[in-house]
Amino acid sequence: MNRTWTAWLVLALSAMLILAGCGSGSAGATKTAATDEKPAATETQAAADSKDAAKTEEKTEATAGASEAGSYTPLDQLQERYDIVIIGGGGAGMTAALEAKAAGMNPVIFEKMEAPGGNTLKSSSGMNASETKFQAAQGIKDSNDLFYEETLKGGHDTNDKAMLRYFVDHSADAIDWLDSQGITLDNLTITGGMKEKRTHRPTDGSAVGQYLVKGLVDDVHKQDIPLFVNADVKEITQKNGQANGVKVVFEGKDEKTISAGAVIVATGGFGANQELIKKYRPDLEGYVTTNQPGSTGDGINMIEAMGGTTVDMDQIQVHPTVNQEHSYLIGEAVRGEGAILVDKNGNRFFNEMDTRDKVTAAITKLDNREAYLIFDSGVKSRAKAIEQYEKKGLVQNGDTVEALARTLNMPADTLQATLDKWNAAVAAKKDGEFGRDTGMDHDLSAGPYYAIKIGPGIHYTMGGVKINTDTEVLNKEGRAIPGLYAAGEVTGGLHGQNRIGGNSVAEIVIFGREAGVKASEFVKAAK
Ligand code: ADP
Repeated sequence: MNRTWTAWLVLALSAMLILAGCGSGSAGATKTAATDEKPAATETQAAADSKDAAKTEEKTEATAGASEAGSYTPLDQLQERYDIVIIGGGGAGMTAALEAKAAGMNPVIFEKMEAPGGNTLKSSSGMNASETKFQAAQGIKDSNDLFYEETLKGGHDTNDKAMLRYFVDHSADAIDWLDSQGITLDNLTITGGMKEKRTHRPTDGSAVGQYLVKGLVDDVHKQDIPLFVNADVKEITQKNGQANGVKVVFEGKDEKTISAGAVIVATGGFGANQELIKKYRPDLEGYVTTNQPGSTGDGINMIEAMGGTTVDMDQIQVHPTVNQEHSYLIGEAVRGEGAILVDKNGNRFFNEMDTRDKVTAAITKLDNREAYLIFDSGVKSRAKAIEQYEKKGLVQNGDTVEALARTLNMPADTLQATLDKWNAAVAAKKDGEFGRDTGMDHDLSAGPYYAIKIGPGIHYTMGGVKINTDTEVLNKEGRAIPGLYAAGEVTGGLHGQNRIGGNSVAEIVIFGREAGVKASEFVKAAK
């Protein structure tokens, strides 16, 4: 078995282990659970249980990682110098590495966890892009301008406009590039705050993260790009203010200094770093997090030490639909494909397809901050991720609406009346109650019926280091720090105060590519 397949099998195995048994599909290093918005003085039982689940998950990941350590680059192949060091083996890091290699560079990826993938592995909804060949083939009329406007509106006009313009204008190209790498996202859906189907998913409609990471890891292996795991970068080194390498600790003990012509920081966000969350958003202390344990904001600290600056650090996205027991995200595609949200009495209470911040605010007002996603077998067949939720034991069902209501301990006549009203709204293409106007292609009339109990959870850190559209890291005066690039969730600005679902996967591919290209140009110019 070649190492590419070994790597993928292990990734799949690790994902299955996470999904199947131990409980925490996410959680992470932070203290989890607790449903009180105010800082909890003492840890609740739920928090303690979740913490155990998080530990179990880390252990599961570690075990899975250990079994495949040989499929990543062995330590004895480490060189003292590379053209480009990439810190972080998530979507942005691997994308940057592929572009750097294509530009004739000799890049390396250092990943601190036991396997690559980061939070990218967990992303579910898809990748937003406008004016793509797949949209055209399906007769979807979209424009970069519309994508720009809707994202800006979703971000309450606080997005970095230059970054956003670059982002929308390069989105279709990023879809084509992925396709050329064997990663085809041709199944379209829609996420909250968007008016067009521009969320690109794998052909079978499954969650984007696992498919994307598998594809990128395969390509990184095919291109013979060294990828070291258990490689924890502690510091970016510099000479006369120019980034020229990193200090990295291998296997928790072996520190080495590696020199490079340029450094790309792709370390992801800080959603699993309780201390940083508390520092910037004390009101979110104790919330569950959907992030993987490695999302601790290391890159932000390292870049600040190099003189870089940050933006929007207090802008932390709380996702409205997270299973609280396992800190497991229920992707927006479930609503995009037609699910509704009801309170514990079976009543709808908000436009399910509004932006994440607004849906979260509506759920936060409910008793115990909990609600139920309700859907039928049609939604289940269109949003493949539901199969994973089912395997994890998150989905309840009933052959009829009444049977489902009984399972949920909900008044059956109210739930039935809610569904009747909703199906009439779908037929009339008008939601008189809450003004929803997307995700209404199909009604909810095909039994069996299903429910997933959800509440809000820390999901994404919109703030981060400041970069420009060349992905150069900027200092406090707005000048680029030579040789230092960053891309992905570690950066801030693009999303402003609210990220639209499907925009983070687009961000890591679009700016990951740009980082690979620009860092390569920098290294070539210096040679
Ligand atoms: P993005 O979506 O921006 O690519 P991800 O969360 O998918 O972000 O990936 C970031 C990766 O960076 C994760 O796999 C994480 O474990 C890794 N990482 C974070 N800090 C470090 C560090 N100090 N050294 C090496 N890798 C790191």
